[in-house]
Amino acid sequence: MGAFLDKPKTEKYNESKVGGGLKYGLSSMQGWRIEMEDAHSAIIGIPDQKETVCWFAVFDGHAGSRVSAHCSHHLLDCIRTNDDFTSSLQQEHTLTKDELRKGVEGGIKRGFLELDEKLRKIPEVASGEDKSGTTAVCSLITDKYLIIANCGDSRAVFCVGGQPALASQDHKPSNELERERIQNAGGSVLIQRVNGSLAVSRALGDFEYKNVEGRAPTQQLVSPEPEFYVKERIPEQDEFLVLACDGVWDVMTNQEICDFIGGRLKVTDNLETICNEVIDTCLYKGSRDNMSIIIITFPSVPKVDPLAVKAEKDLHDLLEKKVTDLVGFDSDIELSAVHQYLQDEDIQGLPPGGGLASKKVFIEEVYKKLLPEKYENTQDECPNPLASLLFHNAKGAAVEDN
Ligand code: MN
Repeated sequence: MGAFLDKPKTEKYNESKVGGGLKYGLSSMQGWRIEMEDAHSAIIGIPDQKETVCWFAVFDGHAGSRVSAHCSHHLLDCIRTNDDFTSSLQQEHTLTKDELRKGVEGGIKRGFLELDEKLRKIPEVASGEDKSGTTAVCSLITDKYLIIANCGDSRAVFCVGGQPALASQDHKPSNELERERIQNAGGSVLIQRVNGSLAVSRALGDFEYKNVEGRAPTQQLVSPEPEFYVKERIPEQDEFLVLACDGVWDVMTNQEICDFIGGRLKVTDNLETICNEVIDTCLYKGSRDNMSIIIITFPSVPKVDPLAVKAEKDLHDLLEKKVTDLVGFDSDIELSAVHQYLQDEDIQGLPPGGGLASKKVFIEEVYKKLLPEKYENTQDECPNPLASLLFHNAKGAAVEDN
């Protein structure tokens, strides 16, 4: 508890690439947490396969970053060494959907379980010195299918025709099946946590929760088994896939993410910019967690639309005028008061799914330009007034949030 900084680290790591008929952008940010425990991987054209076979994954570590970092480097390799996985993928055009699923999902599942066994043998982990664990949400994209493998409470959402058409379900200890497994293994679910402590019921690592004698690895208090979601690709409909950790989903719903990203794609085709906007928006909606997001776009992604670009410019002009008027009226006005005024007004044309929070960075820039000295002082005294006001939006971070 109290594992937060005085002000958030808002520097972001960015990456993007085009290939295999897709395009991806990603962003990650430490935020208010004292440590960055998220990790990710993004590979266009995985080894031994065609360039169109791609792999994306987000890992949300807890109780340290060792396991999440290790998984981001080794999970795909553990999966690829399963011959079934590799050969099924190579024959995807001759196999039936069921045959392909059997080979690919079987390989991914074995990869998860094998990696977990390897993690257990890392000396610091084996000795109990390192107790870290991680969620993993992964997506394998082939010519014909989108396959999601999820373990934990990071989430993948696939947006088709503006709607979340496929989404992974979070593995929370209070889910019926999860609770059943936990209780059968002799544990309990208290304050929606495994044994009152861990907020997620499936993860890699977390070996403190995987020592029940006589039970298989997938029947322990915390299981490393991924759950699968598959959708056939429809080139003329598929828009984009989002993988993100709970730092994002705590404050935005699947629909809001689809609306917000869908709207931003009409304003810019720069995926790193859009990822950064999502993260900043979540920060100002009150997320106190590390945040990571990968956006993967498909050929039918919304294109930049001159009307949307114009609407964005009009919105910026309107916001700039409002902030300028407020400062003109009271040249000693606090930035937090500016936000409060704007919050109370019914401003039209704010980005769907993002609202005023998604314009916080812009508003702050205008304020800074008008009142540079006041802005600098504000930074020292009160690091993030809006975020602290909105903290109640974020889920309570008690014992060991991942
Ligand atoms: Mn998290």
